[in-house]
Amino acid sequence: MIRAVFGDALLDPATGKTTRDAVVVIEDGKVTKAGARDGTPVPRDAERIEAEGLTLLPGLIDCHVHLCSLGEGLDFARELITPPTLELMRAVRAAKRTLDAGFTSVRDAAGTPAGVKMAIDAGYFPGPRMFVTISGLSQTGGHTDSHFMCGVDMEIPFPDRPHSVVDGVENMRLRVREVIRAGADWIKLCTSGGVLSPGDQPHHPMLTLEEIRAAVEEAGTHGKKVMAHAQANVGIKNALKAGVATIEHAIWLDGDAIEMMLDGGNAVVPTLVAPHWVIRHAEAGKMPAYAIGKAKAVIDDHKSSIKMAIESGVKIAFGTDTGVGPHGSNGEEFLLMHELGMEPIDCIRAATSVAADTIGMQGVGRLDAGAWGDLIGVAGDPLADLELVARSENIRLVVKGGDVVKRA
Ligand SMILES: [Zn+2]
Repeated sequence: MIRAVFGDALLDPATGKTTRDAVVVIEDGKVTKAGARDGTPVPRDAERIEAEGLTLLPGLIDCHVHLCSLGEGLDFARELITPPTLELMRAVRAAKRTLDAGFTSVRDAAGTPAGVKMAIDAGYFPGPRMFVTISGLSQTGGHTDSHFMCGVDMEIPFPDRPHSVVDGVENMRLRVREVIRAGADWIKLCTSGGVLSPGDQPHHPMLTLEEIRAAVEEAGTHGKKVMAHAQANVGIKNALKAGVATIEHAIWLDGDAIEMMLDGGNAVVPTLVAPHWVIRHAEAGKMPAYAIGKAKAVIDDHKSSIKMAIESGVKIAFGTDTGVGPHGSNGEEFLLMHELGMEPIDCIRAATSVAADTIGMQGVGRLDAGAWGDLIGVAGDPLADLELVARSENIRLVVKGGDVVKRA
């Protein structure tokens, strides 16, 4: 099957170049040619996809989502009457909304078993290409420990979603092996506390350096990398010392941490929009009091920290923690990145070429020959107006693997 998408323009994020009167030719899901219509012959039997009035660019990539999280606030009573199958089915709606917002690839940062990715790949329901981490590993009392002070543990391990709580070097090795056995593409660790968990603090480091090293080493043996939920300064530095690839949230960076990231080529995944959603949910009465206090306490430091990273030239990969906020709202992160000083082209690179490179997903974030035929169309120049990629309703066309999955 050959399809050709005809747009007003084609933006190549890697070069920042816009080509007028463009066409992208996709054969059996993959791009064969892309460029100006003049110099790009289209096979006679190609099916035409008209995108007049639209600028085409590669499908967007979110490096930090949680497709099985509802994204409508935190309600423990609701969770108690949610059967595991219903929790799993949340991913179906989330996957569609993510795709509709222009995100054709995501890295799921825990909670979502590999079966969701396999179901999307098999065409059971529409959704983005996925990398999964399955279980976010933290220590006893850490960010993903769901034991509450009443004694209840809210985490029900599925056979294909290993338990999140792990202590000690040998247990860490075993747990990483279990998560990889369950189909993980990346390993997720929590090297600091967080905002939404009741029993820990974002500024406290979690897991020992030895435990983190064991996870990185074990993951590396299987050709996998590690992402770290790391908000505390010491938690960030421990993660970097141990060889973690990406630092998520990064609320308290400093000069030394930045230096380590520049030396190691690590990326920060800011998730600037996440604390905003905690506060919005709180204002709507959908958040426990402890989380509101923590979100308000970190939001300014988070901004200063990411601003410092941007100014120092640390690699920034687009990520939102969507699942905290509602699925499909991912694009708002572009506006917050821009507010902190990132140029529009760098914001778009963060969600295309840089994101693909950071998570190591092949054939995404670009539209040259050999890439997946994943593209979006917006009505205007996104470099002149980031709103065009920031709101789901502004994404007029979404094509995944050459198939039109949204047209508005
Ligand atoms: Zn997260």
